[in-house]
Amino acid sequence: MQHQSASAENARHFVIIGGGPGGTACATHAARLGARVTLIERDLVGGAAHLLDCIPSKAMISTGGAMAMMKDATEMGLAKVDVLLDFDALKRRISDIGERLERTVSELLASQGVRLIEGTGRLVSTSEVEVDARDGHTEILHADVIVLSTGSRPRVPDWAGVDGDRVLTTRDAYPPPELPEHLVVVGSGVTGVEFVHMFNSFGSEVTLIVSRQQVLPAKDPEVAAVLEQSFLDRGVRLYKGARATGIERTGGGVRVLTDDGRVADGSHVLLAIGSIPNSDGLGLDAAGVETDHGYVVIDHNCKSSVPHIYAAGDLSGKLPLSSVASMQGRKIAEHAMGLHSRPHRHIDYDKAASAIFTDPEIADVGVAEADAFAEGRKIRVTKVPFSVSAKALINNDSRGFVKIVSDPATGVVMGGSIVGRHAAELISVLALAVSSNLTVHDLVESLFVHPALAEVLGEAAE
Ligand SMILES: Cc1cc2nc3c(=O)[nH]c(=O)nc-3n(C[C@H](O)[C@H](O)[C@H](O)COP(=O)(O)OP(=O)(O)OC[C@H]3O[C@@H](n4cnc5c(N)ncnc54)[C@H](O)[C@@H]3O)c2cc1C
Repeated sequence: MQHQSASAENARHFVIIGGGPGGTACATHAARLGARVTLIERDLVGGAAHLLDCIPSKAMISTGGAMAMMKDATEMGLAKVDVLLDFDALKRRISDIGERLERTVSELLASQGVRLIEGTGRLVSTSEVEVDARDGHTEILHADVIVLSTGSRPRVPDWAGVDGDRVLTTRDAYPPPELPEHLVVVGSGVTGVEFVHMFNSFGSEVTLIVSRQQVLPAKDPEVAAVLEQSFLDRGVRLYKGARATGIERTGGGVRVLTDDGRVADGSHVLLAIGSIPNSDGLGLDAAGVETDHGYVVIDHNCKSSVPHIYAAGDLSGKLPLSSVASMQGRKIAEHAMGLHSRPHRHIDYDKAASAIFTDPEIADVGVAEADAFAEGRKIRVTKVPFSVSAKALINNDSRGFVKIVSDPATGVVMGGSIVGRHAAELISVLALAVSSNLTVHDLVESLFVHPALAEVLGEAAE
């Protein structure tokens, strides 16, 4: 067993467990600020985000989007073309993107002088981390700052019988062993609806089990209704108000049983019913780190109950988004390096923009109309459809709208929702407005490009 000590050097020693967006952002930022950094990753540098969740899902969705555009070729003045999915080429594309991102992140870490240990880390005290390295050696690292960023994994209920073949979690689906003929998706949150869209665009039949009466139950009902209609138009079968309670293997595939007595037959089933934190075996008890349902409890500086131990990303139980994990990682680096005495803004999770990569895309930020209404808050809501936009006409896609929620007294933009093409890009304008307290007048006064979809933001602010 090797021992390494921080005392030989003056720089603060950060030991980071988990190399996803939270861990790597913290590592590079802390190194830039002058810290000595050791990052421990047991599997893939870049984390689940780059290699198992976020990026492969978006890559597959973009392939489906390219297919849809080619199918609509005649509407764009092109001759009709036959488009076929090349499943093996798609698999190569996904693994190429993953490898390139892993290489890029590894090079970035190396360029900042971050020491990367391939292995599994766990706390053995409030200032020591033990690593079981992949090359067989064990090492105790003494740290001034410990950052826990081990992410999460799909939640799998007892009744599911996941086999990675016909009964899949989100981790088995990038891509799945074969293209499902008929996919039953259990769960209609963000992840579930993205899978519905993805496999429907590849030509699979899709059935969606929706436990409530609305797909995307946490979203603005008006926004969710657009997506629901799009699914119905595309032939997706919706089982609303039904909870999956069991999965049986049948001769040809799978049968999903629901609590209201219905059954959904398919060739494959995919579970998208949330995630659980990767906190088991992490030594949290040994160090006395407070947890809540396995998530590390953090304060507004991402600090745990133990001084000098921080948590970032999904493990912190805040918003499970890559963007949030990276921001937490940066903020931890700044706080632990003592930069919080300078003007320092805490993360306002209520102002995080998020997107759902369906067709049409959905994105939102800040206060939602329905929530403000339920809370009795005074708001002004303005809404403009993309059908008024010349660019939408040029794009041959006028679906959707921009909705802006503002303070009726001051005009400050409190939030907004966008449904339509490039919503995930366009929401950045509203995200900046919300985080910088800009007013609707600021948006109206902005000179947007013409013709551009962003012009609708200015019009919705009128
Ligand atoms: C299907 C799907 C799609 C998504 N799409 C988006 C999206 O479009 N946009 C978005 O912002 N977010 C998206 N997310 C969420 C996003 O993937 C997560 O929020 C993000 O990965 C969290 O980053 P993290 O750093 O906390 O953890 P992760 O990315 O999970 O990384 C944690 C790392 O820690 C390692 N690790 C765990 N335990 C140990 C240990 N003991 N020792 C060493 N290493 C360890 C793991 O191997 C892993 O590499 C999606 C999630 C899913 C499931």
